[in-house]
Amino acid sequence: MTGNEIRRRFLEHFASREHKVLPSASLVPHGDPSTLFISAGMQPLKPYYLGLSDPPAPRLATFQKCLRTGDIDEVGKTDRHNTFFEMLGNFAPTGDYFKETAIPLAWELVMEVFEMPVDRLRVTIHPTDDEAHGIWIRQPGMTAEHVTRLEDNWWGLGAGPCGPDSEIWWDRGKEFGCGQDDCVPDHCDRFTEFWNLVFPQYDQRGPIEGTSGEAVRRGLADGSLVPLKRPAIDTGMGLERISYILQGKSNIFETDLLAPLADAVRQNSDQPTTLSERIIADHIRAATFVIGDGVMPSNEGRGYVLRRLIRRAAIHAQRAGLRRPLTDLAAMVGAEISRCPPLQESWATNLSVSIALWSKGWNSLKRSQPSTRRRSWAPMRFASTTRTVFLSSSRASWLRSVASRSTSTASASRWKSSARGRVAERLKVGPWPRTYRSRSSPAIES
Ligand SMILES: [Zn+2]
Repeated sequence: MTGNEIRRRFLEHFASREHKVLPSASLVPHGDPSTLFISAGMQPLKPYYLGLSDPPAPRLATFQKCLRTGDIDEVGKTDRHNTFFEMLGNFAPTGDYFKETAIPLAWELVMEVFEMPVDRLRVTIHPTDDEAHGIWIRQPGMTAEHVTRLEDNWWGLGAGPCGPDSEIWWDRGKEFGCGQDDCVPDHCDRFTEFWNLVFPQYDQRGPIEGTSGEAVRRGLADGSLVPLKRPAIDTGMGLERISYILQGKSNIFETDLLAPLADAVRQNSDQPTTLSERIIADHIRAATFVIGDGVMPSNEGRGYVLRRLIRRAAIHAQRAGLRRPLTDLAAMVGAEISRCPPLQESWATNLSVSIALWSKGWNSLKRSQPSTRRRSWAPMRFASTTRTVFLSSSRASWLRSVASRSTSTASASRWKSSARGRVAERLKVGPWPRTYRSRSSPAIES
């Protein structure tokens, strides 16, 4: 099942259960200065949860582009960290349903739509959440032994709406963890969490010490926690993570969402390493989506984050001895997006404009470097100038081969025939530039 297929099945499941599917909001938050980039599926829907505006429907489902750079240094070193990801989620911001519906809806998806084997699934709940426990053990195939109470299963910001959450975990196998028979989720690397169901059911009005079962009970007793009149539902499942599980891979970089990029780096580098392949794949994908939403590299704010992504990718391109410009990888991301209509429609700019911005952004970044350092940016320099990168047509055949690499559904392939042409047309791709090699010797500063 490809990543696009997983996204489609998720959205269809919830659409068939009266959810309105909304397109992904831009990565750039609208009217929300709390973060530079959207970092969670629920974030663009916050006004609905806070009662500031009415949602277009009581039940919503989205696929939201997200960027988190807090763990940027972990990218490539672990099996699951990345900066850009898509969050699939279903929401009941005004309390149209609560746990009694959210849990069965989630269970139906994993059991019937994704056909995941029940013996490899585990569930965690907050120690106080007897209600969720009661609902979970009534689900087909679920047993009390597979439900673990974890104090971490709490969501809140220190004030306002908060409450317990419940996570669904995948058993990667005994060999991935401590090897003990009594291992449970969150003990070691054996179990990986892929879906979090959040139950905002309290209003936090005073301090509570921690989020243990004891603290929550005390908070309820002394009025620090007051039950909300309309408890809501907010869930989030990372597309990359569920893809690696459903595709039978051991990490996100082996999924069809990231593997073509990592493969391209490996096949076109003199000294590729797993770390560099992963970092380049992740960062170029992230940078392309960020630019697609209208951000340009700069020295501050969002532009600085983008610049850092590109710079880190460039450093690793140099270390790996990558022989192709990084913008070729951006074009691969663009080709993938063009094969996924809902994703493309949620771009602020269209594909060709975005790719052009990529090159423009890169050139401005080069110009902003002190001359002494300019030479060290050579690995990312386009084949001479911007002109050749996206204005040149044997590359169209390469793009086509990339576009046809992964399997597709009937609906996707109907769309694809036109999309492929459109990609080539929009990008006006042409012959590969001459093999591009770094002329620099000094290492790029990080
Ligand atoms: Zn363990």
